[in-house]
Amino acid sequence: MARYTGAVCRLCRREGQKLFLKGDRCYTDKCSIERRGYAPGMHGNARNKKLSEYGMQMREKQKAKRYYGVLEKQFHEYFIMANKKSGMTGENLLSILETRLDNVVYRLGFAMSRAEARQLVLHGHFTVNGRKVNIPSYLVKSGDVVALKEGSRSLDKFKGSLEANSSRVVPKWLEMDKDNVAKVIAEPAREDIDLPIEEHLIVELYSK
Ligand code: SF4
Repeated sequence: MARYTGAVCRLCRREGQKLFLKGDRCYTDKCSIERRGYAPGMHGNARNKKLSEYGMQMREKQKAKRYYGVLEKQFHEYFIMANKKSGMTGENLLSILETRLDNVVYRLGFAMSRAEARQLVLHGHFTVNGRKVNIPSYLVKSGDVVALKEGSRSLDKFKGSLEANSSRVVPKWLEMDKDNVAKVIAEPAREDIDLPIEEHLIVELYSK
């Protein structure tokens, strides 16, 4: 399973905005965007050129990939899936990305970032419908039940994360009970996805 292993703050600086890839640190003044809010590289501070239409479409795609921690090949496969579904391709694309198990774990507050959620899934801490699933790209569907596996429920790590993330609003397509067992009650709709992505630009890019 390929993933980006470089310095993640560079990704935010490249996009010129916070992508919240590092958990706690993103909310402090140690955030690189707060300290050096210009593009990385030798001429990053000097660069301020207007993007072409293609450049804007490309940046939007890169941003979406980075939010969800997905590389090009898989992202393109999601686009093909989205294109085959009825409805708006861009919205379908975001909806598919949202249903990745690592994103669900993050949305439920078990992890401080999607990258951490990915690690937790890989380490086998979660079940879907009672069976252990350690594939971060697993796509949940309506009716699925996501929970910590029994041996992980009492770990301080999860109690701490849930407490730290208690102010994070669980999206309405997920429903978590008092025992921290979550049910997928619907497909995520565009208004449930709080990321500043202009998905139509991604569709335009792939439609060239
Ligand atoms: Fe991005 Fe977080 Fe790094 Fe800030 S601290 S640049 S938001 S990953």
